Amino acid sequence: MNTTNNIDSNIIVIGAGIGGLALALALHKVGVPCRVIESAPEIKPLGVGINLLPHAIAALDRLGVVQDLERRAVPTREVCFYTRHGQLVNKELRGRFAGYPLPQLSIHRADLHQVLLDAVRARLGADAVELGRRCTGVSQDTQSVSVHVQDADKNPLPAIRGSVAVACDGVHSVVRKQMHPVEAVPRYEGTTQYRGTTYWKPFLSGASMVYLGTQKTGKLVLYPVRNNVDPQGRQLLNWVVEIERPDEMLLRDWNRPASVEAFIDNFKNCRFDWLDIPAVMRAAESIYEYPMVDQDPLPFWSQGRVTLLGDAAHPMMPRGSNGAAQAIIDALTLADLLVTRDDPVSTLKVYEARRLEATGKVVLANREISPDAILRVVEERTGDKPFDKIEDVLSEQEFELWQARYRAVAGFDKTHVQAAAAEPR
Ligand SMILES: Cc1cc2nc3c(=O)[nH]c(=O)nc-3n(C[C@H](O)[C@H](O)[C@H](O)COP(=O)(O)OP(=O)(O)OC[C@H]3O[C@@H](n4cnc5c(N)ncnc54)[C@H](O)[C@@H]3O)c2cc1C
Repeated sequence: MNTTNNIDSNIIVIGAGIGGLALALALHKVGVPCRVIESAPEIKPLGVGINLLPHAIAALDRLGVVQDLERRAVPTREVCFYTRHGQLVNKELRGRFAGYPLPQLSIHRADLHQVLLDAVRARLGADAVELGRRCTGVSQDTQSVSVHVQDADKNPLPAIRGSVAVACDGVHSVVRKQMHPVEAVPRYEGTTQYRGTTYWKPFLSGASMVYLGTQKTGKLVLYPVRNNVDPQGRQLLNWVVEIERPDEMLLRDWNRPASVEAFIDNFKNCRFDWLDIPAVMRAAESIYEYPMVDQDPLPFWSQGRVTLLGDAAHPMMPRGSNGAAQAIIDALTLADLLVTRDDPVSTLKVYEARRLEATGKVVLANREISPDAILRVVEERTGDKPFDKIEDVLSEQEFELWQARYRAVAGFDKTHVQAAAAEPR
């Protein structure tokens, strides 16, 4: 891409979350300089677990960070689907265990973030991520874009000029609000999510992900994200509860603390021979709550020299393991386009054309056909009662078709991942 002499840096990346750091690495890999600004004055180990599906791993592999991730993560072996009575509906192998060329990884968000941050600092320079720099808006002319910035005390700083600005500033993106002043109201599903982590001994295969129950009575997603955290060989378990709370739409704050009493009653009978779930919940290190909110796909997300990426572009419900995955794939797609094309304005439109519809489908799929939504079907067919034989309720073929549909929409069907894994590093 051409540079303009008086431009401070070529690409300005706004936000050093998962998507912004992946973009910085992807741009560096193709030789495009960038400047990364982040509003937080320091990077803290925040969040709980994230499951990285093989399509995200294919993208991260191109960024050369998968070995570092594998050292910290747990390679997901299988996903098991249970009713709230503890009856197994079905299970499927995942990642390499399912014949994919790449693993599926369960990882703490803080570990994923740290691996990306370390790689950015090692490759782009120790001060490549400028902390305590909050973007307050963008302006542009035909030659350049200016990102307006405040420091951590809200003092204005000189605007940063570049040829392109990419807003990776998360669910509350200021750039998205500027681009779409009359934005659609966030859509609340009527469900609150509680997320926690607990040190516990390995359960099932030691690398199993469990979906149990439905939002109506309390749904649980559970998987280990760190191995051997102490001499007893315990793991760090990540667990997420979703419960219908139609009258309570919380603020979208990833760090809002919650109490186990808000949901523990719903799981009091979930003491199984493979895991005592209430005991795991009570032993949590910390618990957070978050509303299940998304937004209808935007009509556009590139305007002149400015575009959106990750949650800023397509806020989706944290379900189906796709928030981080889609942000990382956005980053690779955009970097590949920026290096091969000269005109930034048309390049950002091509990026939008490649990613807006694709990610919009994932946003919508997470509402209805996420992998675990099959448990709703079982609940309806059994009247929420224990079944005698699962074959009388749901066939193997129906289960597989359901899962295949989500894999295809989200882009992690085996053929797709094999093709992505075969791309030049
Ligand atoms: C603190 C935190 C905890 C999270 N915990 C979880 C979790 O437990 N489970 C889960 O599934 N997802 C979690 N997420 C969301 C998850 O990281 C994203 O859904 C996904 O990875 C997509 O990444 P993203 O880069 O688009 O957004 P994010 O990872 O949210 O990154 C956005 C970044 O932009 C920065 N930023 C925001 N506004 C500005 C601004 N005006 N100027 C400059 N920088 C700005 C933010 O500080 C943040 O670093 C969390 C996000 C955050 C920020």
